Amino acid sequence: MNATTGHDADACATTAYAPGRVNLIGEHTDYNLGYALPIALDLGTTVSFRPADDAGDGSVIIASSDAESDTVSIDLGTRPGEISGWGAYIAGCVWALRNAGHEVAAGRMTITSTVPVGSGLSSSAALECAVLLALTAHSELSGHELARIAQRAENDYVGAPTGLLDQLASLFGRADTAMLIDFRSLEVTGVPVDESATILVIDSNSPHRHAAGEYAARRASCEAAAASLGVASLRDADEDAWRRLPEGTERRRARHILTENARVLAASAALRERDETALGALMNASHESMRDDFEITTPTIDLIAETAQLRGAYGARMTGGGFGGSVIALCTADSAERLIAELPDIVSAAGHPTPTIRVVRPGPGAHLL
Ligand code: ADP
Ligand code: MG
Repeated sequence: MNATTGHDADACATTAYAPGRVNLIGEHTDYNLGYALPIALDLGTTVSFRPADDAGDGSVIIASSDAESDTVSIDLGTRPGEISGWGAYIAGCVWALRNAGHEVAAGRMTITSTVPVGSGLSSSAALECAVLLALTAHSELSGHELARIAQRAENDYVGAPTGLLDQLASLFGRADTAMLIDFRSLEVTGVPVDESATILVIDSNSPHRHAAGEYAARRASCEAAAASLGVASLRDADEDAWRRLPEGTERRRARHILTENARVLAASAALRERDETALGALMNASHESMRDDFEITTPTIDLIAETAQLRGAYGARMTGGGFGGSVIALCTADSAERLIAELPDIVSAAGHPTPTIRVVRPGPGAHLL
């Protein structure tokens, strides 16, 4: 195996890894061209691709150890609407790559993953980014180009209208580093994360419900609010611009986005200064804003975040698109230990699914193995 190219001379297979992500702060800001502060997880998806010896029948055959169905066959000429379910993420990558003028070889692909699926930790972007890297190992595509192609696969083939946060985090992640992302310039700035605080990801184990429709509705509200304010996107409005909107849903949606952007910048400064108390307070304020103004949390998620906040975390907030998924909590080592021991029982005693808690660190971004 050649470690720098990921190309195995004997088996002619290319293996790529891409991580999931957890967002420290900055939710639904990406498609509003604002800011977010994610880390790449030390959990990821590994894709191995072996091109066919001959042109074969012009398809990519995929198998995933994390999917219910055995294998899916994707015609290289696939178009949106032809494949649904988990195969759509890979078919979308094939379609978006060819659409952007890049060749894709026929062959066989196998997928394994340590990212929990549907937990708000972006198993979808981990899958897309690993697939794209494995399919384009010998091309010169930049991280930004790969992120855009992955987003097109998810938006236009899978049909999920997500922003660029997940893909940029997976592709640009670095160990011990958070990424301040500016979604207008797509600039990614590393912010060191030392080990003085423990990061817990608390998976609610409650499925997203109607998330795609609700997500699209939030997007539409933000676009309507920007139009009412006479700006192209909410990024172009000042922090207090929501005050100029009439009382109602649009005003609250805009207030979340505009105050969240300010919180991300303040959080990035707090992280640099190793001020966990300030960072935690911003995380708590972000949760409140997602709960009351953007209305994307659930009773289970609220209980988990509030329990973590009350029982010693510096701060805790829902992370990811919402309507289920996970909570991120920033803690001292001692309070992390206490939460791991006590929080699952408290949440299940209140009639919710028992959460799963993981200690995570910022891990490396997507790369060839
Ligand atoms: P999240 O990205 O938060 O995990 P999504 O609903 O965006 O949740 O993406 C989850 C979907 O991505 C799964 O339902 C499945 O279709 C697909 N997926 C993710 N990882 C894998 C995998 N390792 N194998 C097969 N499909 C996967
Ligand atoms: Mg996803």
